[in-house]
Amino acid sequence: MTQRKWRVFPGNNRFYCNGLLMSSTQVAVFLFVIVAVIVTACLFFAFDCRFLIQYVHPGTIPLALIGLLGAFYVLMFLLKAGCTDPGFIPRARQDEAHYNQGLGEPDPNTTSTGYVGGTPSKYRTVEIHGQQIKLKYCVTCNMFRPPRASHCGLCNNCVENFDHHCPWVGNCVAKRNYRYFYLFLVSMCIMGLYVMSINITVMVLASRMVGFVNALKTYPATVIEFFISGFAVIAVFGLACYHTQLIATMKTTNEEIKNTFRTSQNPYRQHNVLKNFCITICGPFPPSLIDRRGFVKDEEHHGVDYGATNPIMMDPEQRSMQDTADTSSQLPLTTSTDNN
Ligand SMILES: [Zn+2]
Ligand SMILES: [Zn+2]
Repeated sequence: MTQRKWRVFPGNNRFYCNGLLMSSTQVAVFLFVIVAVIVTACLFFAFDCRFLIQYVHPGTIPLALIGLLGAFYVLMFLLKAGCTDPGFIPRARQDEAHYNQGLGEPDPNTTSTGYVGGTPSKYRTVEIHGQQIKLKYCVTCNMFRPPRASHCGLCNNCVENFDHHCPWVGNCVAKRNYRYFYLFLVSMCIMGLYVMSINITVMVLASRMVGFVNALKTYPATVIEFFISGFAVIAVFGLACYHTQLIATMKTTNEEIKNTFRTSQNPYRQHNVLKNFCITICGPFPPSLIDRRGFVKDEEHHGVDYGATNPIMMDPEQRSMQDTADTSSQLPLTTSTDNN
């Protein structure tokens, strides 16, 4: 008897469409954002665009088309950020875990087994562009985390290039969905300002016709749109600026908050800011390491290799070299709870 791997995937995640899409278990805010975007877009087309075309000029139709295109991109980036595998790292099988544990240097305070209280307490260091990077051992996933990876407490899995766990998109933001998250922030800002400017135009024109108070009463949808868009702009503008600065300096939110590079240079940073943006937004899209739509036999799933290429079996130095060579695909990712 076999079943899809997503059905036995460890961690706190939900899968949809037979494993094609995934998210964390906390998606209430994510669904709220989706509804808010759709409702605002519908009100915008039904009232503001109709007003402009009817009372101003049919030549204002392109304004509606711009709105349609903008709403499409906001929703697409939001769904991509929320439903894409952010870069989860498959947990180690039993035999792989033993191999990994054997690689570690014994802690000076441990017993002869190299453990304190039965828990592996060791780390390794690797060199990336002349910088010594410490790799921590994750006791939940039974492996040394690759550089920049961290264990998300909410998803309960290690994630590559962990930035943060974002309630707005209901998912971790990390190596594979950071670009969508950032583009969602930027497109949301632009569209929020665009809708607000159209709202103001409509209210000014309507006020000239029927007076300001009557305009408010006649076009309440415009007022609702204005406040929803205003809230969205306030919520994401600062975040978009913050992440723009992070991309320019090739840091993740996690690294920024922990001040990871306070005593050393950031080995992932390119000296050209434009190049940093190109790598982050247009760099190669890394493949998913979790083969969630693959099959596993029932009796095997306790020790199954969930990954297409399980990185835990790779020596940390080898893994590090791969990451270094693949700097072009390294997203300067970015925070949440780092429980382990
Ligand atoms: Zn972990
Ligand atoms: Zn998470």
